[in-house]
Amino acid sequence: MADKFDVIVIGAGPGGYVSAIRAAQMGLNAAVVEKWISDDGKPVFGGTCLNVGCIPSKALLEASHKFVEAKHDFDDMGIEASDVQMDVKKMMARKDKIVKNLTGGVAGLLKANGVTAIQGTGKVTGAKQVEVTDKGGKATTYDAGNIVIAAGSVPVEIPPTPLVDGMVVDSTGALEFQETPKRLGVIGAGIIGLELGSVWNRLGAEVTVLEAMEDFLPMVDGAIAKETQKLLKKQGLDIRLSARVTGSEVKGKEVVVKYTDSKGDQEITFDKLIVCVGRKPYTQGVIAEGVGVELDQRGFIHVDDQCRTSVPGIYAIGDCVRGQMLAHKASEEGVMVADIIAGHKAEMNYDAIPSVIYTFPEVAWVGINEQEAKAAGIEVKTGTFPFAASGRAMANNATEGMAKIIANAETDRVLGMHIVGQHAGEMIAQGVIALEFGSSAEDLALTCYAHPTMSEAVHEAALAVDGHAIHMANRKKK
Ligand code: FAD
Ligand code: NAD
Repeated sequence: MADKFDVIVIGAGPGGYVSAIRAAQMGLNAAVVEKWISDDGKPVFGGTCLNVGCIPSKALLEASHKFVEAKHDFDDMGIEASDVQMDVKKMMARKDKIVKNLTGGVAGLLKANGVTAIQGTGKVTGAKQVEVTDKGGKATTYDAGNIVIAAGSVPVEIPPTPLVDGMVVDSTGALEFQETPKRLGVIGAGIIGLELGSVWNRLGAEVTVLEAMEDFLPMVDGAIAKETQKLLKKQGLDIRLSARVTGSEVKGKEVVVKYTDSKGDQEITFDKLIVCVGRKPYTQGVIAEGVGVELDQRGFIHVDDQCRTSVPGIYAIGDCVRGQMLAHKASEEGVMVADIIAGHKAEMNYDAIPSVIYTFPEVAWVGINEQEAKAAGIEVKTGTFPFAASGRAMANNATEGMAKIIANAETDRVLGMHIVGQHAGEMIAQGVIALEFGSSAEDLALTCYAHPTMSEAVHEAALAVDGHAIHMANRKKK
């Protein structure tokens, strides 16, 4: 194996493997180093996203949603399916198979693109040097024209709830339950808490979510967050806000959790507890002392808008740098950095990165929300359309939720799109494109949408910005 590469990427998650492939496509001699190792000693590609994140969680969300639909919604459509059962082990086996297919697929893609895959733990030992320690402890030093650090993130642990094998778990453990717990506690009503809480709630667990903050989903548009909270409550998720966890103790087969809320000290007992209170950058040991790569106060690798670190030739992308911890953000940064290394001009529009929470219904947004516009002193006009007024939503049995568009009051330019509704995660691509192309709300309003589709709600929301939605009384006063 060559010991010199144009670019060496550390970490083969959606940031790293995409960056390595792009670099190879741009004609560079690229290598990717991955320390995650399979039982048969091969590197495991795909990082958090493919192995213990996006993909396995979505496999469980889809299966559990279909179960609930079959159990509760089919009857209304005339489908007799009263005795529907869930085989949790089979659901897990399907999830594992999907993960295996995808991670194997990445290995194939790396090979097909001529990327050299190196198993081992990578460490930046100089501006142009990476040392890799393999599974047997042997260290090899490689020369690199450029280095991309894509080391990702790991779950945050908090002192009141130390992990206890199989009982008090992080998101990875929560993807491995082999049966549905009767009483499930979730610490943190963030994205992971709501997604994984939904999975087990749908399968019959009594789920209580303890959230320290007073506001529910503070990063989401206020109206959308309120609607989401109402819908999740209706599904049986017991979300307790302003509930700060102070301790936990495993007693036999139970976990006793202590927390404080506005009424004082509380205690609650669960069969399992998921701790999902955020993730932190995984930078420990990745950069040798003296290399000069700066970290910020929270431990993220400090980078500029084009993911350059403080050392020329060393870049960092994905969860280990500032910004949203999202797979598609990591991948886009990986592509940008590979293009820059290959000598091309490249930049990213950080204002147009979509977010999706894969509950049912899904919550999706891009751009600014109404409270952010207000805080920034931007005058906006908004248009909202409820799925209750959508023909397709009625046919789909999915009338819950709404689409909302935020436009600049003066220029009509779309500044944000926010949706809670079935397939919101698919529909939000329209908002991303609107932001990328600088569309006005009128542009969307004058666009012909296929009928009947859920996306017509976006069209109607765009029309509603100026009080002209057709299927809703919304005339704005002049
Ligand atoms: P990672 O995916 O964490 O990959 C980093 C890789 O680097 C790992 O393989 C690690 O082993 C390797 N590594 C680290 N240090 C070294 C080293 N020194 N040497 C060699 N290798 C090293 N995001 C979404 O966009 N959509 C979702 O639906 C979604 N769902 C999620 C669900 C869950 C339960 C979780 C936990 C996360 C989810 N995320 C989702 C977040 C998403 O997984 C991350 O944002 C994404 O994986 C970040 O990509 P990355 O390449 O930066 O890092
Ligand atoms: P998060 O930041 O989304 O939510 C963590 C929540 O825990 C916050 O609401 C916080 O207030 C709360 N919290 C913190 N300490 C607490 C305490 N002591 N007691 C009670 N509540 C407490 O983090 P997460 O849900 O762990 O997810 C991590 C990241 O992974 C997300 O920010 C996201 O970027 C990524 N992710 C994305 C998706 C997706 O795109 N669909 C899915 C899962 C994860």
